Amino acid sequence: MAQYLEIKEAHADALLFYRMGDFYEMFFDDAVDAAQALDIALTKRGKHNGNDIPMCGVPVHAAEGYLLTLIRKGFRVAVCEQMESPAEAKKRGSKSVVRRDVVRLVTPGTLTEDALLEARRHNFLVAYAEVRDSAALAWADISTGAFHVMTVSKQRLGPELARLAPSELLVVDEPVFQTMRPLADDFKIPLTPMGKASFDSTGAEKRLQELFKVGSLDGFGKFSRPELSAMGALIDYLEITQKGKLPLLLPPEQDSEDRVMQIDAATRRNLELTRSLSGDKFGSLLSVIDRTVTPGGGRLLEQRISSPSRKLDTIHARLAALDFCVEQSSLAEHLRDALRKTPDLDRALSRLALDRGGPRDLTAIRNGLIQAEQIAGSTDDIELPDLMDQATANLRGFDDLLGLLDASLVAEPPLLARDGGFIAPGFDAELDEARTLRDEGRSVIAGFQQKYAEHTGITSLKIKHNNVLGYFIETTATHADKMLSAPFSETYIHRQTTANQVRFTTVELSEIETRILNAGNLALEIEKRLYQRLSEGILAQAALLNQAARGLAELDLATSLADFARGENWCRPTVDNTRSFNITGGRHPVVERALQQQSGDAFIANDCDLTANGGAAVWLLTGPNMAGKSTFLRQNALIALLAQMGSYVPAERAEIGLVSQLFSRVGASDDLARGRSTFMVEMVETAAILNQADERALVILDEIGRGTATYDGLSIAWATLEHLHATNSCRALFATHYHELTALAGSLEGVDNATVAVKEWEGEVIFLHEVRKGAADRSYGVQVAQLAGLPPSVVERARVVLEQLEQNEREGGKQKALIDDLPLFSAAPPPPPAPKTSALDGMLVDVHPDELSPREALDLIYKLKEAA
Ligand code: ADP
Repeated sequence: MAQYLEIKEAHADALLFYRMGDFYEMFFDDAVDAAQALDIALTKRGKHNGNDIPMCGVPVHAAEGYLLTLIRKGFRVAVCEQMESPAEAKKRGSKSVVRRDVVRLVTPGTLTEDALLEARRHNFLVAYAEVRDSAALAWADISTGAFHVMTVSKQRLGPELARLAPSELLVVDEPVFQTMRPLADDFKIPLTPMGKASFDSTGAEKRLQELFKVGSLDGFGKFSRPELSAMGALIDYLEITQKGKLPLLLPPEQDSEDRVMQIDAATRRNLELTRSLSGDKFGSLLSVIDRTVTPGGGRLLEQRISSPSRKLDTIHARLAALDFCVEQSSLAEHLRDALRKTPDLDRALSRLALDRGGPRDLTAIRNGLIQAEQIAGSTDDIELPDLMDQATANLRGFDDLLGLLDASLVAEPPLLARDGGFIAPGFDAELDEARTLRDEGRSVIAGFQQKYAEHTGITSLKIKHNNVLGYFIETTATHADKMLSAPFSETYIHRQTTANQVRFTTVELSEIETRILNAGNLALEIEKRLYQRLSEGILAQAALLNQAARGLAELDLATSLADFARGENWCRPTVDNTRSFNITGGRHPVVERALQQQSGDAFIANDCDLTANGGAAVWLLTGPNMAGKSTFLRQNALIALLAQMGSYVPAERAEIGLVSQLFSRVGASDDLARGRSTFMVEMVETAAILNQADERALVILDEIGRGTATYDGLSIAWATLEHLHATNSCRALFATHYHELTALAGSLEGVDNATVAVKEWEGEVIFLHEVRKGAADRSYGVQVAQLAGLPPSVVERARVVLEQLEQNEREGGKQKALIDDLPLFSAAPPPPPAPKTSALDGMLVDVHPDELSPREALDLIYKLKEAA
């Protein structure tokens, strides 16, 4: 208990998983919390200061699942292991307690186990540092080695965090911890405070130099003090949680805000880029276009969707790779086949680096390299576009390592190194010899059984093995007397008597057993040594292997996006430095997919031209609800985003002048959890757009001002549109149901009216989903309400009121007076006539189809026919 309390004190902020034999036990409050969080039994053990000690535990072999649950529920877990065996402890003194120590702190941002991670998502640990007025973010995924840093303006912090979606955010404990809290809560990011010393930028430089074994960081770039501070804190945290065992990190890559298209959190949500509005992956853009075949490719795709580029050369290089894969489809298909067989190199590598790996990580590297070699080989004589050329170049040069792994490892090894059996026969002579001895011993023992049976005349005699006795001879209790008396008692040494059996050994059996044990242990020793050697061999090339993994991910992404583009009829966009935005035949990929799956209806493609020659270019879109306004708005935003991430786009033709920022304010999403009304959220988001959008921004605004009184709303929408046009001067799509706004198009240059067409037929609306120039004539609200299934009486009454309102307006009367005049109920339509009952109806009332015999049914049909 003294040992426990001492260790617990050093890890007060975490649950302590305290190893006791085959269990991790928790005590005191930890036990109470964990038992509740894991839904396991809470028991007690011993007393402390006269009180029972609450306790619960989880078996070591099943610990991963429990860890995951705890991490998901917001706990941190300190894993405390036994650092010696009980026998070793006894040697030190008869009262000695087994030495224990915390070997690792498990936190959301520092996971490496496959079972705890999503294969296709990054798991970013992020540190935020402020030095005077400037600030920086550093982030790393220790399961892949990715490491980045970037200076960030405080205003852009929210959008950047939205882009990174960190699993854990490190900040200095005071005062930043308090100021960051609301933002972290908003984004549901676990916030971890750290002391000032961790963020010291001078110490950080040293830490980084040591980590990367360099005398100066200049080779990686010039870093500002906040950048150093953020990186330093991150490394310090890794040292603390990994207990000195540092994960493999690639040299820091310096990002900048102007490298990627800026997309704020609200826009990401609205456009459902990587998650749908309901929070699932299903229904997001990512889920629809993801045809990657490797986890690394999946992670790269998610990253690209989250951070579309703003650099023309980057975008063009990616598009060139896609062009190639679209044209060379059979080669691309061949590459995809090889990629399908490639394991997750990044994550295997990171586990090996943290000494958390096993034989299967070694074979993962081997299998990955085999595929890499194959892929590189199949493109040998082909002229590839730069990006793919670079990617395949990264796959070469592993001949020696691959040779070693290939010769040393069996095809399908066991999970744990300590079980042995993963080194291939023929690789190490000493190992082969030990294994032969062990196996020969076993067959010798098998031969003993017959020998002893003949010797004693007991045919049912067996040789068995268990962990307590080792090998033993077993007979039923009926033969006990015979075995225990001369002459047999000289040879057969009694070991144990159970209810039904008696167990013996012989000198010869013990000797062979010792030999087998020794040989077996020796074999295990040798395998462990070889494991270390192979692991070290791999880690010596870690940086190159990471690059190879990146190369594979690039190839996966290019070939899978090309595969998608070809299959779905997407086109190559042109992206340049102009301010055009000209889409012909654009579609919304997610809505199109949903239509295909649900109704089989075709998606109606639509054009959009927002080319801004100097000034602003705004389309004011009117049309009834359900016509397809939001869809149209979003599809154009998505086309811009897809183009700049380097993908083909769902359109016949697309010309896009670089978009620097993407803003969207779509639909009304209530945000009661954050204590703001819909209207307030809407205004906050609109304010962000009007304050930030530059002339390269693309803005889509849907139904601004809807959440308040008509005239308020109209005025806000009006002023917003004018500001976008005059001050932001950007390209924008503005959907509104305030028809009054369409008058603006005439007076503002660059503002055009467009409408989503509908047809009226026998009093019902038919949605054509076609976007045309011009303004909508009316809003068809009543018809849409009818479609939605409002009771006929309500629909009829609404029609009457609407007619009177409109007539009154035409005649210039006061609405207030009219409303007072409207008869309350008199205009209500008469109740619908009672359904007529025909002769046929009467005949059918008492018919129960399930109870009819075929004969009766036939008779009935004849009768019905007669009556009709
Ligand atoms: P609005 O914003 O005008 O109320 P939405 O954009 O939400 O309308 O569209 C309503 C529904 O109409 C969508 O869910 C989709 O099923 C269908 N739809 C929209 N645009 C199209 C289109 N271009 N082609 C086919 N169906 C469409």
